[in-house]
Amino acid sequence: MTIRTRIAPSPTGDPHVGTAYIALFNLCFARANGGEFILRIEDTDQQRSTPQSEQAILDSLRWLGLSWSEGPDVGGPHGPYRQSERGAIYAEHTERLLQEGHAFRCFCTSERLDALRAEQMASQEPVGYDGHCLSLTQQEIAEKLNSRHPYVVRMKVPREGVCVIDDLLRGRIEIDWKQVDMQVLLKADGMPTYHLANVVDDHLMEITHVIRGEEWISSAPKHLLLYQYFGWKAPMLCHLPLLRNPDKSKLSKRKNPTSILYYQRMGFLPEALLNYLGRMGWSMPDEREKFTLDEMLEVFDINRVSLGGPIFDVEKLRWLNGVWLRELTPEQLADRLHDWALNRDNLLRILPHAQSRIETLSDFAPLTAFFVSGMLPIKPEDFSTIGLDDETLLKALQFALWRLEALQDWQRDRIFEEMKGLASGLGLKVKDFFAPLFVAIAGTTASISVIDSMALLGPDMSRARLRHAIEVLGGLGKKRLKTLEKAYAELASA
Ligand code: GLU
Repeated sequence: MTIRTRIAPSPTGDPHVGTAYIALFNLCFARANGGEFILRIEDTDQQRSTPQSEQAILDSLRWLGLSWSEGPDVGGPHGPYRQSERGAIYAEHTERLLQEGHAFRCFCTSERLDALRAEQMASQEPVGYDGHCLSLTQQEIAEKLNSRHPYVVRMKVPREGVCVIDDLLRGRIEIDWKQVDMQVLLKADGMPTYHLANVVDDHLMEITHVIRGEEWISSAPKHLLLYQYFGWKAPMLCHLPLLRNPDKSKLSKRKNPTSILYYQRMGFLPEALLNYLGRMGWSMPDEREKFTLDEMLEVFDINRVSLGGPIFDVEKLRWLNGVWLRELTPEQLADRLHDWALNRDNLLRILPHAQSRIETLSDFAPLTAFFVSGMLPIKPEDFSTIGLDDETLLKALQFALWRLEALQDWQRDRIFEEMKGLASGLGLKVKDFFAPLFVAIAGTTASISVIDSMALLGPDMSRARLRHAIEVLGGLGKKRLKTLEKAYAELASA
């Protein structure tokens, strides 16, 4: 049997370091055992999935030095590798489950489901579907179908007993069936949910080992039950520990940049970032800190993964990156700097905004240094000339950050519209609202247009600098954040 593993990202946002971490371990496990590693795009959430996000994920994983033998970009014998193109396959499999009595149509309205949920919460029962539509007769179902009642398809789930999961790293895990919801498999719009598509695809793509984050353990019973319903052999499951912030909470962009694009823009070397991800819960037999992917592959043993939550610590990553950088020859380092930002293409992007502001060539570097910097050495005093009180400054920066976190289409005009809209919503002059953004993004209000600057810096660095500015101004505690969240929601609905 050839070992086959996969990474199955959902293209709903920035490429996440957690995706790269899981991809790395899947790749190592497959290749170290003479197997294959493939990539599948799980874009069944049509609202949130975008082609830009898919492209960014593929580019980022490649940038890190990861590669796959099958995928939407390279093809392969088990395609298509994008779930949105596999609709007929899921429809057929849902039909089969319905026919064989393993799934049922549920016509419940969202009002009924909301009321049910509220009731269950009030009486502190586990929240989940109550099986209402299981008792519909064939005739009732036919009538509802005839009158075009919208419906979803749910899987049947035993109400008694325990589901036993045999995890490669964790051993036996037991989950009471009572805790498992009658999962929706096919949504009212005919799209499959993650659970159905994931199981069908893992089977058809001959995946032998599913290596994924521990947040999916609670989904395992549904998946194992589906394999059983279809009469398929389930792959071996292996749930890796989640990456954590230094304070042990789940890695989140509030506390740490999570987008691979940020680390790229910040000037981390892909080898160093991949090396660091290889140290997440795993170590070389000789405990050395610096190693290449090839070296990791040579000695990889999944049983060396330790389950204590690995800490993704940007300071340690910086240190490791420094080790990598210092081992480059000056020629190699020059090439890296060139490929990273110090090149003609990048100059040509910046120049149109700088040319009218310089009198000598030597004015160029100080004016544009912020484009090739990481976090800027700003201080609270840098905001004092703006003439806004701290409360308003923080509010402006936080609102801008939220607005920009939600902005998918990072275009100059879109950024401008959003920021202008916020200024008027807050009752501030555009100039006053933009001033703190200037300081956050460029370090000074006397600089290239802040909107152009953000467009050029890209979403990750721009957002990171806004976050940094908020911290420099003393940050927002939980309470103030809550108040601001409320005000922001009111503004959005106004
Ligand atoms: N699409 C899921 C995700 O985004 C895949 C989870 C799995 O590996 O089964 O994480």
